[in-house]
Amino acid sequence: MPSSVADRVGARSGPAVPGGVCAETVAGWYEDAMTSDAASARPDPTTEVVDLCRDLLRIDTTNTGDNDTSVGERRAAEYVAEKLAEVGVEPVIHESAPGRANLVARIPGADPSRGALLVHGHLDVVPADADEWSVHPFSGELRDGYLWGRGAIDMKDFDAMVLAVVRHWQRTGVQPPRDIVLAYTADEEAGSDYGAHFLVQRHGGLFDGCTEAIGEVGGFSYSVNDAQRLYLIETAEKGIDWLRLHAKGRPGHGSMVHDDNAVTALAEAVARIGRHRFPVVVTDTVRAFLEEVSDLLGIELDPDDPETAIAKLGPIANIIGATIRNTANPTRLSAGYKDNVIPGRATATIDCRSLPGQSELLERQLRELIGPDIAIEYIQRQPALETTFDGDLVEAMSAALRAEDPGARPVPYMLSGGTDAKAFSQLGIRCFGFAPLRLPADLNFSALFHGIDERVPVDGLQFGVRVLDRFLRTC
Ligand SMILES: [Zn+2]
Repeated sequence: MPSSVADRVGARSGPAVPGGVCAETVAGWYEDAMTSDAASARPDPTTEVVDLCRDLLRIDTTNTGDNDTSVGERRAAEYVAEKLAEVGVEPVIHESAPGRANLVARIPGADPSRGALLVHGHLDVVPADADEWSVHPFSGELRDGYLWGRGAIDMKDFDAMVLAVVRHWQRTGVQPPRDIVLAYTADEEAGSDYGAHFLVQRHGGLFDGCTEAIGEVGGFSYSVNDAQRLYLIETAEKGIDWLRLHAKGRPGHGSMVHDDNAVTALAEAVARIGRHRFPVVVTDTVRAFLEEVSDLLGIELDPDDPETAIAKLGPIANIIGATIRNTANPTRLSAGYKDNVIPGRATATIDCRSLPGQSELLERQLRELIGPDIAIEYIQRQPALETTFDGDLVEAMSAALRAEDPGARPVPYMLSGGTDAKAFSQLGIRCFGFAPLRLPADLNFSALFHGIDERVPVDGLQFGVRVLDRFLRTC
């Protein structure tokens, strides 16, 4: 990347075409391409998206959760910066620590009085063990109509789609109706401290005027039948409540009678948590989702027993099932240093996820399960998010989906995990998960997240470009 692009603060972009701020047209690029001779020389964004996504997949951006062993985010951010600079968009890159690079750029819209739309994607990926994969996880291989690689759906696909649309607009002089702020972040896969949270806390001014945002884990299809597909738009996210439990006891010799063992006390508490099922609570988002889906599938929905309906949803049951109650899963245990020594301390980590507004209730529920003698330390606490499924932006998302897929049924849903939206919502931004993808009916999409043989269908990626192009022109 040219040094002039790096670390330039507050730079704004302009259209690449001289005098080329053309009036916004609802007609898509595909129609532009039909009417302009010059267009034939331009790369088609649905072709270019494949190359862009492939290039990004080939940059290993593994986030291990440790700055010393995480790699590649700087290279990926520089790649995106180059691709933006080529078409006249001037991004800034901010590092939160050496190599932990975050990129932000602003594309001026036609109406500066309107709030800006933030479009965000993370560049890091979770680790992948090449021995377990059918292809090398950083090869970006094209096979059987899919682009394979770690990050193919989480979320270099969306990173590439956004880049393809923006590059096409800059080349053809399309201006969005309002400012669009692009953010390509580091560290999402380890809690975003070096990514979105860093940007929000240290460079919040880059997001001045942003009122709404789109990001990952929404906008993907779920086939009900040949004619109809649900598109799950994320309007809510569970909260993250990671706990460390500390049990104390009397240290001693492993050969003796001993009634104050920290390992025993901790194990009992962990087992109670792991086996507990918290009560069902159906939030507005989940109710709206279940009503729509039950109607479509002809499933009887009993509001007192949503689990029966959820069990009939097939592969997405495990996504939706986690959004009707708080959850708490033990994930780590640590105690002792020798086989015949009873340790004085034992610790466990519990991954808890809370429904909107339930974090304090969950804390009380856990305290009751754990008992009074074990200390609770919060190692991560981020609130749940929930917004309504209405307004102009939701209309624009739904219209773009229906225009490209007449069988589209957009529905709101709650994500059981967390995303960078947690950080950006702290700036008062209304966040949605909308990274449109049309998927084959038989693909188990949720299993691909952080899974082996992660891959994205090429035609789904191209569908996403067309939907995003329409949506961003009307946002
Ligand atoms: Zn992700």
